[in-house]
Parts: sequence; structure tokens; C-alpha cells
Amino acid sequence: MSARILDGNALSATVRGQLAERAAALTARGTAPCLAVILVGEDPASAVYVRNKVAGCEKAGIRSLKFTYGLDARQDEVMARIAELNADPLVHGILVQLPLPKHFDAEAVLEAILPDKDVDGFHAENIGALAQGNPRFIPCTPYGVMQMLKSEEVPLKGAEVVIVGRSNIVGKPMALLLLSESATVTVCHSQSRDLALHTRRADILVAAVGRPKMITGDMIKPGATVIDVGINRTADGKLCGDVDFETAKEVAGLITPVPGGVGPMTITMLLTNTLESAERAAAGA
Ligand code: NDP
Repeated sequence: MSARILDGNALSATVRGQLAERAAALTARGTAPCLAVILVGEDPASAVYVRNKVAGCEKAGIRSLKFTYGLDARQDEVMARIAELNADPLVHGILVQLPLPKHFDAEAVLEAILPDKDVDGFHAENIGALAQGNPRFIPCTPYGVMQMLKSEEVPLKGAEVVIVGRSNIVGKPMALLLLSESATVTVCHSQSRDLALHTRRADILVAAVGRPKMITGDMIKPGATVIDVGINRTADGKLCGDVDFETAKEVAGLITPVPGGVGPMTITMLLTNTLESAERAAAGA
């Protein structure tokens, strides 16, 4: 049996088409949605992500501002820029691309973003609101995964969900979102004993680790939905996920590929959050 493929590019194209219509309507009413992106340092992957985010904005009719700083940038100059953007009524979303250089206090930088403009949803206030089931901005990657599950009408209520990875940007918010849909959620991490024991029970398995192909077909329950968040590079320079796609697709019922799965949806949800922020600002909320 070969699994159905959950195509993130196709879903993204549909959602981005709808976003472009909303952005055009909002702009016509006098509010041009705008995202400000801050990039510090010389990480090549970060530069690609920022380029894709800016291009995504452009295509959806969302204005973008890009601020780049060298590796030797001081934290106070970046903080001053954030303060300026916080105060600018024409800016609706502020994103600081991670990781920041080692001499930065990343937490302090993220906390400096006004929660109302924190379209990545990483501010403690926004994580708190999400934990209470009343989110203002949902972190983009888990938000994208939820949209993918909903687009396929994957049953969530009472489902056994296993998430591998407990980071603040993927695993933890993913767990909160699925819990709020009444799934039974297990979160595994590097200290979990017998990972396969957990993954084999999962109706929905989310891999967010950063280890190429670590989830193999024999770790998957037949017919399960497998969401691969991982983005890794193999020795020959190709992209691959945390799931061994070749063996997993023979066991799973539905599976996301890498590339072309969760990745495009992450940027789509960033655009969604920015537009929602601009719509709220226009409504005076
Ligand atoms: P982190 O490195 O912050 O977290 C990785 C998690 O995996 C940690 O919780 C860690 O456990 C856990 N882990 C590590 N080794 C094992 C193991 N052997 N068994 C079980 N768990 C393990 O990564 P991120 O959450 O930021 O990212 C995860 C992956 O997702 C990466 O490949 C990243 O590139 C990708 N990513 C993709 C995005 C997209 O748009 N598709 C967006 C964001 C990330 P512990 O906490 O114990 O250390």
C-alpha cells in the first residue's frame, strides 16, 4: 500500500490565492498590510528563508520591509529598530529571523516585539494566550500543520497524536493546538525511552526533530497520518525530512513530503498572521 501525499504546495497555492484577495480588499479600504523582517548575521539558510518570506508577501499583495544586519551588529541597534517598528502604525507584523548570532539574547529580542505585531507568535504573552486556548497569533509551522490536517479532514477528537520534538517554535505549540482539538497528545524528545513504542501507537505522528530520516516505516502504525516538519540536508546536498519517506509511505495512510509539505505552509501562515494583524488594526481592534 502506498500512502496518499498531502501536498503542501497545492494547499498553499489555494490559501495564498484567498489571502491575495483579502489583502487587495484591505488595501482598497486604505490599509496596506505590511510585514517587517529583520535578518541578522550570515546564516545562508536564514537568508533563503527571508528571501522566500519577502517573495511570498509580494505575491500576496502584502508590503514588506527588510532590515539586514551583519554578524557584528549590536543588540541595541536591533532593539532600537524593533522599537521604531513597534511604534509605526503602517507596520502590522514584525519578524526577527532565527537563529540570532551567539552574542544576542534571543529571548530578550523576541520579547521586545509588541505582542500585537508578533506574527511569529513567539512572544511569551502570545504563547500564554495560546496555552489558555485563546490565541492571538499561532506560531506559523504548527498553524500550517493544523491547516493541512483540517484540509484532509483528519479526525482529531480522541486521536492518539505523537509529536517527536518539544521546541518552543514547533513541538510545544503543536501539542497545545492538538490538545485544544481534543486529541490525546504525547510529546517525545531526546530523553524519551523507546521512541518507537510511542510512535507505533500514533494515529497522527508529527516529526519535528532535525535528524534526517530518523522515523522509519517500522515505527509507524499502518494507515497513520505522518507529518514531517524536519528540514535537513543530506551529504549530497538534497533536502530531506525527519521521516524516511520511502519506507514510511508504504505504511502510512497520508504523508507529507519534504520538500513540498509543511515548508510552504509555514510561510503561508506567516502571511495569514500578517493579514489578520492588519485587518485587526483596520478594525481598530
Ligand atoms: P530543535 O532543535 O529546537 O528541537 C528538536 C527537538 O527534537 C528537541 O525537542 C529534541 O529533544 C528532539 N530530539 C533530538 N534528538 C532526538 C531523538 N533522537 N529522539 C527524539 N527526540 C529528539 O528543532 P526545531 O523544533 O526548531 O526544528 C525541528 C526540525 O524542524 C528541524 O529540522 C527544522 O529545520 C525543522 N523546521 C521546519 C520548519 C518548516 O517550515 N517546515 C520550521 C521550523 C523548523 P530535547 O528537547 O530533549 O533536546
